[in-house]
Amino acid sequence: MRIITHACPACGTVVAANELESRRVMKCPGLHCEEVHRFDDLEDEEREHFLENKDQYRL
Ligand SMILES: [Zn+2]
Repeated sequence: MRIITHACPACGTVVAANELESRRVMKCPGLHCEEVHRFDDLEDEEREHFLENKDQYRL
């Protein structure tokens, strides 16, 4: 299974696609980081892949 993640441009914290997808908008989990991440921050191709294989990411 392919791992899809988004790296915070401000602090480098890596957020998993399934977290982004379930919350849609989330504050960066990085310490003292105010960056906000959205599912839409992922590449189109990554979003598509994630949505097509969503079941595999629910483990
Ligand atoms: Zn961050």
